Amino acid sequence: MVLSRIWSVALSGVDGIAVEIEADIGGGRPRTQIVGLPDAALNEAKDRVRAAVRNSDLQWPDQLVTFALSPAALPKGGSGYDLALAVSMLVADHKIPPDPFADTVLLGELALDGRLRMVKGVLPCLLAARRAGLTRAIVPTPALPEASLVSGLDVLGAATLTEVVTWSRGDIEVLRHPDPPVATPPPTDPPDLVDVLGQPEGRWALEVAAAGGHHVLLAGPPGTGKTMLARCLPGLLPPLSTEQALEVTAVHSVAGALSADSPLVTIPPFIAPHHTSSVAALVGGGVGLAKPGAISKAHFGVLLLDEAAEFASSRLEALRTALEEGEIRLARRDGVVTYPARFQLVLATNVCPCAPPREADCVCPPQTRRRYLARLSGPLLDRVDLRVRMRPITALSHALDTTPENTATVRARVTEARARAAKRWSAQGWRTNAETPGPALRREFALPRPVTSLLDRALTSGALTARGADRCLRVAWTLADLAGAPSPTPDHVASALNFRDRKVA
Ligand SMILES: [Zn+2]
Repeated sequence: MVLSRIWSVALSGVDGIAVEIEADIGGGRPRTQIVGLPDAALNEAKDRVRAAVRNSDLQWPDQLVTFALSPAALPKGGSGYDLALAVSMLVADHKIPPDPFADTVLLGELALDGRLRMVKGVLPCLLAARRAGLTRAIVPTPALPEASLVSGLDVLGAATLTEVVTWSRGDIEVLRHPDPPVATPPPTDPPDLVDVLGQPEGRWALEVAAAGGHHVLLAGPPGTGKTMLARCLPGLLPPLSTEQALEVTAVHSVAGALSADSPLVTIPPFIAPHHTSSVAALVGGGVGLAKPGAISKAHFGVLLLDEAAEFASSRLEALRTALEEGEIRLARRDGVVTYPARFQLVLATNVCPCAPPREADCVCPPQTRRRYLARLSGPLLDRVDLRVRMRPITALSHALDTTPENTATVRARVTEARARAAKRWSAQGWRTNAETPGPALRREFALPRPVTSLLDRALTSGALTARGADRCLRVAWTLADLAGAPSPTPDHVASALNFRDRKVA
């Protein structure tokens, strides 16, 4: 019996599992079959791979060719196995030696003429290969920058199947090594706070949000700079840690959204889906195995819902689950996948549907105005700690404005406040105030009575829910961190309550 073993990777969400591909030739009438839960795209690989092999001046055996992919119970999809299937057949057919492919993972889709095409998810695939103990990777040339992010793997780039065949026969110069990494500036610089006119309340809310990791609502008429302000938030956040950067890059890789030259995502992503986006585009979905949506692309970054009240309630509801759990589970035909979705939410909204620049010009009946913002209310808004009412910029506020602070100045305060919080919660493993669980704030880290008396009164009168009280405590801690105070004062609690209570309509 002629048999070969070649490695590739199956992805489920951003988790990969090494897949062993065996090829067997003979034992039946001439045809090609794949066993081991292939999806439709993978089943089509038979024809693609056969054409690519023939068009690379190689023979496809005139016998039964059987490919077995294991673990068999794992659903496998897509076109990323093409190269591994072709090589596996060629080894089984004694056309190329097996030894060069030991401990080597092969990724790439084959074009009919034998060219090797880019596939999504190269980074998470190679991380999985490394975990499985493989030491070498052969990927399509365009994937080299992304592949080189994985240390500890000997990465080689191939442009065609012929190159891989030539390499395996001993001409090792044929395949390319990745270029040494060059320091490239992040692809999109967030705008600077120095360009935001007026809006002292909005700026302060943004600083507090950045320092504590809180969600924000910015409400106000068009032209008050809500979107501009929201776009400044990623610039106030610390850069991603190495671990976070790889996690975020893996999600973007699976989504096919990486930059070709500098693939590593090092700054918190900023994602702003349109209010007409489908549920699949927003939270993830699609046929077969679900793809990541906007909420996962915003992982460890900022998700802006501009014109938030225009989002259909089904979209906002889907968002709520992710806000609670920090991840999203998506069940589709070919299985359940989980994507991370730990983002900071910014809601920006007009206060009424007619949205005039001057509020005095509003023509909406009072009940229309109420109903408009009520779409946001309830469980979603209950998770938003900071609510800000943005006012139109007047000539007066212009005149009073000295040069506004720039992002670097505010970021310095944010960094200091974050360091204080991280130090305080380090034993518990929480990084920001927004991550601290309510019970801990009420017990181990409870504040003395006089400090919380305002909250107690609001709770007793029913003006505040228990969850709302926890959220106030978190913001109060952030205000104390920004002020350099060891713990919140009654003033900090009052300001936190004010942020929450603020009437936005
Ligand atoms: Zn109106």
